[in-house]
Amino acid sequence: MITRSPIPLQRHGSADTWQRQLAHAIRDPRELCRRLALDAQWWPGAEAGHALFEVRVPEAYLSRMRPGDPHDPLLRQVLPLEAEQQQTPGFVSDPLEEREHTARRGLIHKYAGRVLLITSPACAINCRYCFRRHFPYEENAPSRAQWADTLDYLRQDTSIREAILSGGDPLAANDRQLGWLVDQLEAIPHLKRLRLHTRLPVVIPDRIDDALLDWLGRTRLQKVMVLHINHPAEIDDSVISACQRLRQAGVTLLNQSVLLSGVNDSVTTLAELSERLFEADILPYYLHVLDPVEGAAHFDIDDDTARSLVAELRTTLPGFLMPRLVREIPGEASKTPL
Ligand code: SF4
Repeated sequence: MITRSPIPLQRHGSADTWQRQLAHAIRDPRELCRRLALDAQWWPGAEAGHALFEVRVPEAYLSRMRPGDPHDPLLRQVLPLEAEQQQTPGFVSDPLEEREHTARRGLIHKYAGRVLLITSPACAINCRYCFRRHFPYEENAPSRAQWADTLDYLRQDTSIREAILSGGDPLAANDRQLGWLVDQLEAIPHLKRLRLHTRLPVVIPDRIDDALLDWLGRTRLQKVMVLHINHPAEIDDSVISACQRLRQAGVTLLNQSVLLSGVNDSVTTLAELSERLFEADILPYYLHVLDPVEGAAHFDIDDDTARSLVAELRTTLPGFLMPRLVREIPGEASKTPL
């Protein structure tokens, strides 16, 4: 059982909308250290890492961390460390070779039957292990005119059944843009499903507001949301209530996690994560091994350890709470089970 005495949530006015929370996310590494009462030895690493990939942490997520604990598993996901400077053989800037599969600006077509649309270049939180930490978003942010080209691609390929909104975080886009895009997608007869890959309902649960539920609830497309949660302490009551609203709007909720050293590399934590996900009406889907992205080698867990963790996890959980341990290998037709 995790015990924590959370730090107070800093509010930014009476109408603390998700947009205000996003705008006021912590972007200064020293501020992050100061708010969590970390001593000055952490500052140089935090500043050096921030220069490579900027710090971004919303207050709602910060409030679930333990002050004074540099090893807090939520903080570890967002605090830049000295280790990010190290060059490690095999760890590269585009580990999934996404540039090879960019069929149109902002459209990645890797797998049969589904395409991924870079819907927003921004995230609400910057995760230090992110495989897209070097992604050239500026080259892939389509304008309204470029969306026409993207939508044409989808119209012409009748094998595409599913559009995946990704990013960045697609829910960092505003509801007017998202509503427009979903209207365009649902007018394509062969499209059946809309999938969103997002961390926003976890890091700013207020994102699940009436404006979002309006466009999401009214589409004819089947809706799947794949959340990204790595540790049970990420799921507090506000996340559970956001998930309830999504479920009421007919959204199937799945979760993908990344196996991360110092965050969730224990059977106890992974079992507790699955239990907590199910309490929030989310099914565990994937447990990814780390994509070898430059700057994140200190999070890596070797394959044998990953396999033995999952084998032991299987002895403690019912099958429906078991995530699939996978690796993404560039050029493969699907994720590869380990
Ligand atoms: S929210 Fe997802 S895309 Fe954004 S930094 Fe984190 S892992 Fe990367």
